[in-house]
Amino acid sequence: MKVYHICEICQQIFDLSEMPGQEGSVEMLGICNDCADEMGFAASVSPRQTYYN
Ligand SMILES: [Zn+2]
Repeated sequence: MKVYHICEICQQIFDLSEMPGQEGSVEMLGICNDCADEMGFAASVSPRQTYYN
């Protein structure tokens, strides 16, 4: 069974996993990294930060 992880904010499939032994597919809502970042930025007081290694 394929599990499609769909972002509930941008409606994009951001991950796909498989559950062996079952047929069909299922959708699971979640939040993709992009939206998680944006939410992090929105919740942050400081402006967008870029990290350099
Ligand atoms: Zn998203």
